[in-house]
Amino acid sequence: MTAPDSPVSSSMSTARSAEVMARSRARFPGGVNSPVRAFRGVGGDPIVAARGAGARVWDVDGNAYYDYVLSWGPLVLGHAPPVVLEAVAAAMRDGTSFGMPTEREVQLADLIAARMPHIEMVRFTSSGTEAAMSIARLARAVTGREHLLKFEGCYHGHADSFLVKAGSGVATLGLPDSPGVPEALAKLTLTCAYNDLEAVERIARSVPLAAIMLEPVVGNGGYIEPQPGFIAGLRRIADETGALLVFDEVMTGFRIAWGGAAECFGVTPDLTALGKVIGGGLPVAAYGGARALMERIAPTGPVYQAGTLSGNPLAMAAGIATLGALTREVHDGITTQTAALVQGLRDIAARHGVPFTASHTGSMWGFFFHPGPVHTFEDAKQSEVPLFRRFFHAARRRGVSLAPSAFEAAFMSSAHGPAEIADTLTRLDDALGAAVAERD
Ligand SMILES: *Cc1c(COP(=O)(O)O)cnc(C)c1O
Repeated sequence: MTAPDSPVSSSMSTARSAEVMARSRARFPGGVNSPVRAFRGVGGDPIVAARGAGARVWDVDGNAYYDYVLSWGPLVLGHAPPVVLEAVAAAMRDGTSFGMPTEREVQLADLIAARMPHIEMVRFTSSGTEAAMSIARLARAVTGREHLLKFEGCYHGHADSFLVKAGSGVATLGLPDSPGVPEALAKLTLTCAYNDLEAVERIARSVPLAAIMLEPVVGNGGYIEPQPGFIAGLRRIADETGALLVFDEVMTGFRIAWGGAAECFGVTPDLTALGKVIGGGLPVAAYGGARALMERIAPTGPVYQAGTLSGNPLAMAAGIATLGALTREVHDGITTQTAALVQGLRDIAARHGVPFTASHTGSMWGFFFHPGPVHTFEDAKQSEVPLFRRFFHAARRRGVSLAPSAFEAAFMSSAHGPAEIADTLTRLDDALGAAVAERD
């Protein structure tokens, strides 16, 4: 298998994918093990992945796609990078799990602290959900307060406290806040619009907040950037009102800047959640911050949190290899390619005369069929979603995999070079032409 199908191919075979999905639907709700994979936001059958290499993924029918989902963010070096495969294989030969401290854990923590010096101490978990959930518990324990403030369209995993005006699949599916979340708990999570500093100020001065938590650049409500002064304003309000400032960098970490949001925006959080990139495609997440806060966690402190597979050696090896390869130079190179893709898309949209706004921070990017600016999730919802759906399917038929939702960010990897970007843009130009023709 070499290059993806010709850009004009619209008759790709998907028989084998359909067969696997039929079996999956009998076994898994919606045929999937995480809702966003089910393509409910765009309709049609998911891509059933068989393998990936570099910038591309192949489905079980042998169709190739340039991949801008990249496992929803983790694969910053692309699919199956040899440096990660070799590290995982080497770790595996020593054993897959110990339930004992290992040296690899401290190696990965050192790599994180070198990039985010405010993370003096870390606790590894297996998912971002666990990291965010544990941060809520720690923030409540440290402050003796119960309320959290989050932003509409931001996603912090699926723990009860965060399924309130949440982004990601909750936004894509247009779901109300989830049944099964006790009202008493949901009431402790307050929300306001992203970028609305006045609303934050009003809430923080009337309710004692344990934490103000945000995605420093939103990816789960579509790609939305913080306005100048927003994050610094949150830092000031948190300091003035005794709340902790929490950056959920599960998506942004090691994507928006080499040193993450603190480097990008010059604001230091009290606690940080990490995930995705730090596991290089294996299940790893983490939370961390200053020693004094983190020592409140068991066993040094009373705040309980644990995990049988936390700090798993295969996952640590993948993370060490990934962050090790992601030097400043490599990070900057991915950023340059991302800028080229985003500019190319703007040019294409202008030629086709559709309302469009696109942007990126580092290797995280996104677009809306909306004239812009998009500062809040409400703005994002005003975008032309039916056109997105047509564009998504037209792109897919032309061998480009975009997130199957108008409300998800996109990603880039070091394996997406100038040739891949140019080829992608040719295909997307053709796809947008087809989508616009269907729209009229
Ligand atoms: C993906 C994500 C999570 C949840 O991480 P999981 O590993 O899927 O549990 C939390 N916060 C943000 C910002 C995310 O993007």
